[in-house]
Amino acid sequence: MKKSVEKMSARKILFIMLDGIGGLPVKNGKTEWEITATPNLDKLARKGVYGLMYPIHMGVIPGSDTSQLNILGYPPYKFYPGRGPLEALGAEIEIQNNDIAFRANFATVDKKFNVIDRRAGRIGTREASKLAKCIEKIKIDGIEFIFKNTVEHRGAVIARGKGLSAEIEDTDPHATGVPIVQPRITTKNAKLVRAINKYTAKVHKLLQAHPINAKRRMPANALLLRGAGKMKNVEKFEKRFGMSACCIAGAALYKGITKYIGMDVIHVKGATGTYDSDLNAKAKTALRMLKKYEFVYLHVKALDNAGHDGSTAKRQYMIRKIDKMVGKLMNEDAVIVITGDHSTPVCKRAHSFEPVPFIVSNVEARNYGLSKFCEVQARKGELGLFNGEHALRIAMAYAGRTRKYGE
Ligand code: ZN
Ligand code: ZN
Repeated sequence: MKKSVEKMSARKILFIMLDGIGGLPVKNGKTEWEITATPNLDKLARKGVYGLMYPIHMGVIPGSDTSQLNILGYPPYKFYPGRGPLEALGAEIEIQNNDIAFRANFATVDKKFNVIDRRAGRIGTREASKLAKCIEKIKIDGIEFIFKNTVEHRGAVIARGKGLSAEIEDTDPHATGVPIVQPRITTKNAKLVRAINKYTAKVHKLLQAHPINAKRRMPANALLLRGAGKMKNVEKFEKRFGMSACCIAGAALYKGITKYIGMDVIHVKGATGTYDSDLNAKAKTALRMLKKYEFVYLHVKALDNAGHDGSTAKRQYMIRKIDKMVGKLMNEDAVIVITGDHSTPVCKRAHSFEPVPFIVSNVEARNYGLSKFCEVQARKGELGLFNGEHALRIAMAYAGRTRKYGE
């Protein structure tokens, strides 16, 4: 009896993750959030509690993957499997426990395997998909390599065989004008490294001969591998936190992260993970999924892209677009969380360690006088300054999903 009462008071959570949310001053000492009108977010923030969050820890520059795992209740120090497996899951490659997974890029190389362009002239998804067909499955020395492309030049590779080690360097030199790296051989990884070197050569041969590449100024004639990792068995989100959960995202990595922790991934037509992503379609899907799931994770990517592109105008464009999306969601009877996984200030064109705003809205809250949703005013609230490992518990507390400690 007691249990059912508890269950009834528990509310649903809509968790909106704005990738690269935080910025630094861009105009008159103010950030993009401070100088861009966000009527819906302001209203929502005033109906909630707020603070600033260090996504991982103070002084740590977060990757999107480690940060989002942390915020979702899976500390990366323990649960991070490396970027490879998360990309491969997002690419919908079926991974087995002993597979080694890599993140992969189509690239352009010359005859001596010197990298000319790490993104093969930013090849489009359609052409990349056609090229991918000729290198889908390749077997070398008893190791099977499976490749799948995702968006544009991106994709994932898994190596399947007996006794393979994930301790292996990237073949991606992370620079141009230098050759593809032949990873250092150790006692553990010799078998895989030898096979990978042959694989790189074989892939080059097959891609170089492909008719699509004959027409390209920057032929996509090589694959660069990085972020090797192995799957880990993790407790599913629903079991760990008692909430059925799904993810709505455009880009492969975020689908991979949430799939890794056992969430259902909902595909939305028009959700691209870039500036043109259909946030209206994502909002509609989120509303539908809130009827079915207790926890809906809605990820928006392109604010981060704008930071990497060093464009304040694009960040403002995304902020306005996000505010409109929030307008379609804010009246839903759910606890709404709005936060991000790190800052991506335009002046750095990269992720940075500054804390990010965190609001929990549609809840009973004290009024600390916030008038604008932004990094600076978020600090006024009672959540103060905290680390990402507390994020989910805070959200659950406001949703009536935590229990009393002691009597
Ligand atoms: Zn991110
Ligand atoms: Zn980023």
